[in-house]
Amino acid sequence: MKPIGLYLHIPFCVSKCPYCDFYSFAADEQTMDTYTEALIRELQNWRERLCVTADTLYLGGGTPSLLGGRRLYRLVTAARELFGLDNAEITLEANPAERLEETFAAFAAAGGNRVSMGLQAGDDRALAALGRRHTVSQAEAACEAVRKAGIRRLSLDLMLALEGQSDRDVRHSVSVIDGLGATHGSAYLLKIEEGTPFASRSFHLPDDDEAAERYLTAVDAFAERGFAQYEISNFAREGEQSRHNLKYWNADPTLGIGAAAHSYVGGKRLAYPRDAAAFIRGNTPAEETDSTEAPAGSETEYAMLRLRLCEGLTERGFADRFGRAIPAKWRQRAAGLPAAYVTADEDGIRLTPQGFLVSNAILSRIL
Ligand code: SF4
Repeated sequence: MKPIGLYLHIPFCVSKCPYCDFYSFAADEQTMDTYTEALIRELQNWRERLCVTADTLYLGGGTPSLLGGRRLYRLVTAARELFGLDNAEITLEANPAERLEETFAAFAAAGGNRVSMGLQAGDDRALAALGRRHTVSQAEAACEAVRKAGIRRLSLDLMLALEGQSDRDVRHSVSVIDGLGATHGSAYLLKIEEGTPFASRSFHLPDDDEAAERYLTAVDAFAERGFAQYEISNFAREGEQSRHNLKYWNADPTLGIGAAAHSYVGGKRLAYPRDAAAFIRGNTPAEETDSTEAPAGSETEYAMLRLRLCEGLTERGFADRFGRAIPAKWRQRAAGLPAAYVTADEDGIRLTPQGFLVSNAILSRIL
C-alpha cells in the first residue's frame, strides 16, 4: 500500500484575524500540553487500526508554531516512530508575528524540512487593514529564522482582492515573496465569511472583474519570477510543489488528526468535530462525512479534485485509477466550452487560469 499523508490540526492562535473562520482559539500552556498528548494518543490509536506508513506530515492550524519547540519535537518524533516518515516532506505552518528561532531549530532537529507562513501582503498598511499581527520586517526576520534552522523549503501565502489593492500592489507582494527566498507561494482571494468580524463591516471590495484581474496579475507575476502555477491557488519553483497537498488533489489517502481535522482513509471521508476539549477527552471519534453529489472514491469526486490542478484530469491517471477512459460525455461538454477556459485533448481535460476563476460553473457544466 502506498504511504499516506498525515495531517495534525493545531487549533491555537494568539488572537483571531477578523476574516478567518478556521477552527482556532487562544489557549494556555496546559491546554497545549494536554492537546499534544491527545494527538499522540490518536496517532497511536490510528496506527493500530491502519497498517500503513506515511511520507508526508503537515502541521496545520491555527498556528502550530505556537506549540513551541519542545511539543513540536515530541509530535514529529512520535509521528515518525509510528508512521515511518522515511524521506518525508514535513511541513510546519507558522505565524511570522512570533519569535521563531528556537521553534524552527527544534522542528528541524526532529526532521522538519518545510515551513509555510501567511505573509498575506507585502506592505504594512495592507497587513494592518487585514488585522494581521505582523509587519513585513517581522516576516523578514521569520524567514531568516527558517534559513538559520537549515530549512530550505519555504512557502508564503498572499491574499488577493483586498480593499484598495491594485495590480501594482499584487506585483509588489509577489516580489516580496521572491525576495524573501520562498520556494513556493499561494494566493487566495479574500472571501468574507459569515460570522466573522469582517462580515459586519462595510468594505469597498473589488468587484468580480477587478478580483479576476488581481488573480491573473498574480499568476503572471509568479510566472515571471520562476514560480510555475500547478493548482488554482499554488505556485512553485521546479520540484517544490507541496507533496502533501498534492495528495488531496489526487484523492490519495490522508489521515487528519485533531479537532476539525479531515481524513480520507479506507475509502471513507471522516472528520473530527470542531471541539478541542472533546478531542482531549478522547470521546469524539472522527465521524463519516460524505457528499451525495461526489461520493468518496467516485469518478466525479476524483475529477473535481484533479481539475483544480493545472495538469488537470489526465487519461493516464483516470485509466490507472478506474481502468477506463474519461467518460465521453465529460469530454464532449468540455470541448463545447470556450477554449479560454478549458482545454480538452488526447491527454485529458484541464482548466486555464481564466477557467480557474469560474471553476465551479465549469465543473458543474462538465460533470
Ligand atoms: S493566524 Fe491564521 S488561523 Fe489564526 S486566526 Fe489568523 S488567519 Fe486564522
